[in-house]
Amino acid sequence: MSVDCLLLTHLHSDHTLGYGALWLGGWAWGRSRGTVVGPVRVERFHGEWQRMYADDVTYRLGLGRPAAGLTEQLAFWEVDGAGGLDVGPWRVDYLPVPHGIPAFAYRITAPDGQVVVVSGDTAYYPPLGSWARDCDLLIHEAALAVPRAPNAQWERLADYLRPYHATPREAAEIALRAQASHLVLTHWLPEADPIQARADAASVFPGPIAVAEDGWSWGSGA
Ligand SMILES: [Zn+2]
Ligand SMILES: [Zn+2]
Repeated sequence: MSVDCLLLTHLHSDHTLGYGALWLGGWAWGRSRGTVVGPVRVERFHGEWQRMYADDVTYRLGLGRPAAGLTEQLAFWEVDGAGGLDVGPWRVDYLPVPHGIPAFAYRITAPDGQVVVVSGDTAYYPPLGSWARDCDLLIHEAALAVPRAPNAQWERLADYLRPYHATPREAAEIALRAQASHLVLTHWLPEADPIQARADAASVFPGPIAVAEDGWSWGSGA
């Protein structure tokens, strides 16, 4: 309910499956406005959800509930190329990254000057390192982490994914180029060994490294 701005890095299902819950669920609990930032066609993406739930939306509005936040007071910002926008007191800059479909990294600057960079899904992309320069926190994907039990099937999958995803060492390389204060590794395949991933990243990046998992949150004092 308290979330009123959503930054979508790209529209793959593993990054957007919760959209309906956020949009309809948040409104049901009182949210009355929202801004969605994402790649071109993000407004169409929203429209598909709205079409899927058209009868449900009609039913809820028929109960006399406000349309604001459900079908009104929603803004869509479709990003294409590099740029930036202000979201309230926050600055949000975005950079296209290589992932096979339109995909973006976000650089979020808080009112107190702290900077968080989110890679989204990306292959190893050195320009991201200089773009993320001096960030306090870099959240970088590491989908090509080695599995707990290496096997030929995973090797084939990794070969296929290599143009679209990064290894933990590559994520650490970006953190090093950026001189990031902290690195968080994320985006695990089911077979991944996050402990080994952390060790691999630590062989490249000397700063603090954390491994993200579901339900986990990061604080600068942690
Ligand atoms: Zn993806
Ligand atoms: Zn993904």
